Amino acid sequence: MNVSAPISTLDGAEAVRQDFPILQRVLPNGRPLVYLDNAASSQKPEAVIRAMDDYYRRYNANVHRGVHTLSEEATAAFEAARAKVAHFIHAPSARQIVFTRGSTEGINLVAYAWGRANLGPGDEVLITQMEHHANIVPWQILQEQLGFTLRYVPLTDQGTLDLSQLDTLLTERTKLFSFVHASNVLGTINPVTELVAAARAVGARVLVDGAQSVPHMPVDVQALDVDFLVFSSHKMCGPTGIGVLYAKRELLEAMPPFMGGGEMIREVKLTGSKWNSVPYKFEPGTPAIAEAIGLGAAVDYLTEVGMERVLAHDRELVQYAYARMSEVEGLRILGPGPDARGGLIAFTLEGIHPHDISAILDRAGVAIRAGHHCAQPLHDRYSVPASARASFYLYNSASEIDVLIDALQDAQNVFML
Ligand code: PMP
Repeated sequence: MNVSAPISTLDGAEAVRQDFPILQRVLPNGRPLVYLDNAASSQKPEAVIRAMDDYYRRYNANVHRGVHTLSEEATAAFEAARAKVAHFIHAPSARQIVFTRGSTEGINLVAYAWGRANLGPGDEVLITQMEHHANIVPWQILQEQLGFTLRYVPLTDQGTLDLSQLDTLLTERTKLFSFVHASNVLGTINPVTELVAAARAVGARVLVDGAQSVPHMPVDVQALDVDFLVFSSHKMCGPTGIGVLYAKRELLEAMPPFMGGGEMIREVKLTGSKWNSVPYKFEPGTPAIAEAIGLGAAVDYLTEVGMERVLAHDRELVQYAYARMSEVEGLRILGPGPDARGGLIAFTLEGIHPHDISAILDRAGVAIRAGHHCAQPLHDRYSVPASARASFYLYNSASEIDVLIDALQDAQNVFML
């Protein structure tokens, strides 16, 4: 690999940078911001900020309930955002898009609405050891209440799923196979098609945690044939406070509600209530209206750039970063080689705690993340308590990776003294 090759796939990456006001920021110590913490949350383009601002300035009102101009405009924009999201992931209908607060809430919604109706003693839920806590803890809580068994697909030393024992883990007892599409620590992209086929063979439902995939690559729910997909707006150029649960229509229709309140009902009597149609059955109370509109603008923005180009850019950046990081003495990269991963690299640096790495990098203006990244069982598997993680997105450049490498070398010098 030619390590000094320029990043060129995303034509006009500089132009993309201009769309993100925060990237012009100079930090209090005079350093320009090098934002490499995108797996935690991405930055927002002007178009998203403007769409939310416009809602509050011009047509702020509650949705669905009012028969007045502002409410009708707000409702139209809110529902247009839902349709954009459906189109973005190739869902057959906008009715299959449930707005949630994020990936975490989406998984909890499936656990409580679908899980409570479908899981019991003798049943199994299969997850993997590379899951984010959001796809572990809800199942552990529910397991206590319902008495099903939670099982885990182990990991190889290389940082991929160890599928050698899948036949014994995925059986007719498995009611749900829930796994992450792209790992937020290892960068591993899991073979969804193969895993869905294995689940189908035993009649298990499939939930895919798309928190790190939907923002970074084209995802087609019909081609992948998943039953449930969750993702978060804030990792894909949209605002915080909103995310998406996609599900097959018949599953949504059959699932009981997760939370009760206004808007999710058709009729309420003292003797009982009737539920609204999907997706409203799962959206009680006033939704995150400005945030949905912002997510719609983010989807427009990413669509305009093109998800294939976002993916290609991520790949080039990660290959360049992988090669350059491999030059740093004592640096251990978690997960597979550069060709088999998404746009992030978690690593350890001999003799320096990840929090210290992060603090020293911050002095150079470089924002990365340190800790267990909400994936403790994964870190246990590789016998590291914590790691540092650099994660890239469409506006990052090779020269920013050079700044990262220089800062890592400086960190080593500080600790060698
Ligand atoms: N799953 C994965 C793989 C993630 O990376 C994250 C966010 N770090 C989540 C789930 C949870 O997302 P949120 O905090 O937006 O609910």
